[in-house]
Amino acid sequence: MPASLNSLSFQEDFVYRLMTFCPTFSALGSIIRVSRSFNRVFRSHPKSIMQAVAYNIVGPSLPQALRVVRYPYRREYGDPKYSDSEKDSDSEKDSDSDERNSNSGPKDSDSEEDPDESKSTPNTIANTCPEERDATIITAKEQRKLMENTEVMDAFENIYSLTRKDHTSKTSVLTWEESWRFRRAAYRIMLFCNLFPASRYGIEALYTLEEDGEVEEIRQQRVAVLSTYPTDELRELYAVAQFMHDTFAAIALANGEPHDEETIDAVLGTGPDGLTRAWEQRSIDDLEEELYNLFTEWGGVTLNDGFFTTPLAKIWEARGVEMPDDGEAASNYILDKVVGADDTCSQCATPGGLKLLTEANWDRLSLQLSDLLKNKLKSCLVVTAPFVGLTEDMYKSDKQGPWIAGMFSLKKFLGMLALHDTPGAWDGWERDMSYCQPCLTKFLEDHVWKWLLLEQLKAGWVPPENCEDGYDCKIAHKRAHASAKNHLCEPIKSDVDEADVPSAGPRRSKRLHK
Ligand SMILES: [Zn+2]
Ligand SMILES: [Zn+2]
Repeated sequence: MPASLNSLSFQEDFVYRLMTFCPTFSALGSIIRVSRSFNRVFRSHPKSIMQAVAYNIVGPSLPQALRVVRYPYRREYGDPKYSDSEKDSDSEKDSDSDERNSNSGPKDSDSEEDPDESKSTPNTIANTCPEERDATIITAKEQRKLMENTEVMDAFENIYSLTRKDHTSKTSVLTWEESWRFRRAAYRIMLFCNLFPASRYGIEALYTLEEDGEVEEIRQQRVAVLSTYPTDELRELYAVAQFMHDTFAAIALANGEPHDEETIDAVLGTGPDGLTRAWEQRSIDDLEEELYNLFTEWGGVTLNDGFFTTPLAKIWEARGVEMPDDGEAASNYILDKVVGADDTCSQCATPGGLKLLTEANWDRLSLQLSDLLKNKLKSCLVVTAPFVGLTEDMYKSDKQGPWIAGMFSLKKFLGMLALHDTPGAWDGWERDMSYCQPCLTKFLEDHVWKWLLLEQLKAGWVPPENCEDGYDCKIAHKRAHASAKNHLCEPIKSDVDEADVPSAGPRRSKRLHK
């Protein structure tokens, strides 16, 4: 409490405390407007009250978050050749990207000052607007950007938590300390990406940079910016950068997009905001479009190569410290404990840890849904056409998870009505368990076609007579036959491969005890 608070009366002190507990700036605004005396309390201690509210919103990484929104970004940093005519022709495109990048905050018109080359030394860039720990006035614009960036960080941390900490929860379960380390690093990454946005340069500017050796200058600036942080906090930053790298690569891989190092290094420059968007879209395609210039007719791309790793390697070397652990082991710099790291598949005991599938990550399971149709149904057009129609947008929207959950409800429903062909076959396969992909696929294969049958019946479909061979019919791909007979049924013949019937496993006994 500031010493001057002593001058407040008991009631004023109460109002002061009330204000510092506000969860948002708009709540604070409402309280300030309650009465003139409330307003007076605020006016007497605006800095400490604002700092307290900002802390409630952002948490302990507030100094880093404030620096991101306050830094006087200059789009011309490192690019003094950026000519006026180029600026004009780009102005329309920029207003678009302002919309998209409003979270990151670097492009407001009032921050687009003219370049002052004398100030653009690496050290000036690194030491401008340092992380501020004292209470300060937070302007309305800064408040808005803090809120926006907090939303990005919430989503960003949720992804980190789901893929690195606990695969059973969609919302972050990081501890207070872990979250602090993660966000402190993430805000510094956000600043770094705002300072060196790959989307800044036109093709010509990129060529000029390369020709004039300015790529090297930008690299020195990057080293200088990161050099301001202590080694342990840089390792945390490295861990978050590694997480981003691996997540971008996994998204691209799952969507059949290029995921070579050059591409991933380029999209890394879009920062936490870019990563959360790519995660939502399950694609890095939009980001690549924003970075179009980096990929077009640009033979010798060197600008973003080793976006984080190159400057960091220089710093480890200069400080004489060992390279930090790579890949997932880097999470140890952020996390004290990983939940379920030794988990195995609930059915076949395959070890999988955080890679195992749970209801929390079913949405992220990348597979061709029509591959889930049983046996010969996969090639039966009369079946695949309506199935694709019903499931088309499932993966890209968040509907796939609830849809898979629905298969477990269907299992229960069929069990209750004693409609399972092999009673008890799927006992012990529950919605809240962890599965390896082959096991989950096996389960889905036995339920998805039944779901499709029910969906079509609900929609008023009158099926023709059942084909004796059901989903095993070898001529189900022939249109005439497929239309004349229904194949969404069990084969009647007794030549069903025993291997297709899952064993109930040890869990079967569980049911008998109920
Ligand atoms: Zn398994
Ligand atoms: Zn048939």
